[in-house]
Amino acid sequence: MKTLVIALQKNDQPISATFELISAAQSLGGDVCTAVLAADAEALAGTLVSRGSGTTLTVSNPALQYFNDEVYAKVIAELIKKHSPDLILAPATFYGKALFGRLAGMTGGAMTSEATGLALEGDSIVVTRPCYGGSVVARVSAKAGGPYFVTVRPKIFPEAKEGSGELVAETVDAACFESGAVVKEVKSESGGTINLSEADVIVAAGRGIRGEENVAMINELAGSLNAAFGASRAIVDAGWTEYKFQVGQTGRTVNPKLYVAVGISGAIQHLVGMRSSQYIVAVNKDKDAPIFNIANYGIVGDLFEVVPALTAKFKAELA
Ligand SMILES: Cc1cc2nc3c(=O)[nH]c(=O)nc-3n(C[C@H](O)[C@H](O)[C@H](O)COP(=O)(O)OP(=O)(O)OC[C@H]3O[C@@H](n4cnc5c(N)ncnc54)[C@H](O)[C@@H]3O)c2cc1C
Repeated sequence: MKTLVIALQKNDQPISATFELISAAQSLGGDVCTAVLAADAEALAGTLVSRGSGTTLTVSNPALQYFNDEVYAKVIAELIKKHSPDLILAPATFYGKALFGRLAGMTGGAMTSEATGLALEGDSIVVTRPCYGGSVVARVSAKAGGPYFVTVRPKIFPEAKEGSGELVAETVDAACFESGAVVKEVKSESGGTINLSEADVIVAAGRGIRGEENVAMINELAGSLNAAFGASRAIVDAGWTEYKFQVGQTGRTVNPKLYVAVGISGAIQHLVGMRSSQYIVAVNKDKDAPIFNIANYGIVGDLFEVVPALTAKFKAELA
């Protein structure tokens, strides 16, 4: 059994989900390989090796500086041909999903997205994933022998902390680096310094906040907890905040340790994006709001009283 982890990067550093994928691969036993594609892949690979990335295949080329699914897919397809992994893992992010859809098509491999569990049962790789908005959990299996592409939800597996590995510099056909589209520059999103998908704590606001002017109050609560800001679609559609903060079926899927839902009713389309959070706290003035059905803790009250009180308490306790 050989598992290949695709190490995606941001700002010349491996993203934290990469370390989670390494620990997922380790948990299956067998050989762990990691592919690092970058302008200078060796520079990036050092941290990975010290945290157990196993045989770490590096491909360096200026064309790999920014994510380009066409170029990345061609390079990874060559690595797969050469190293024959049974299972290939990437994070279930926009990039991971774009890449694996393309790769599965190119190689004829199977693909499963949004995995929340991985196991080896006999000679089958069994993936657990939520379906139908999380109301059922599917077990999808594929015989080892691959290639089997699986994107894994961030924040499910713990990060690999230590381990070993070796660097292997790979050369691939120069045609792999050619693409119809060239990414010349990537600009970071402004505002919201904590990435929603990677956040341990999220404070999310819904229509109950009444207007754009009250987003700042929710952001202050988020700041007191060192949390990321999230939003329901209702307030994105109303133009009170940006789409990048939207959680749910047509927004982001998040999986933090703590999700605080403020003035959010708990519509199914919102729940599918956050119901797997470890702890859910809801603040709502309606004691029958559906969000309370999945909340671990609920505060029935007016958010305009509850939120400032919580913010003051957290600032005092956590300062
Ligand atoms: C195809 C499709 C896709 C969708 N995708 C998404 C998605 O990705 N994400 C998403 O969020 N939604 C999505 N929706 C919309 C979803 O159905 C809901 O309309 C939306 O989630 C409601 O947002 P909300 O909870 O903020 O607003 P509301 O449902 O209006 O709830 C507001 C809540 O605030 C409470 N409240 C009001 N005043 C106060 C107060 N002073 N103090 C405390 N509580 C108060 C109310 O009791 C209420 O429960 C989608 C819908 C469709 C059809």
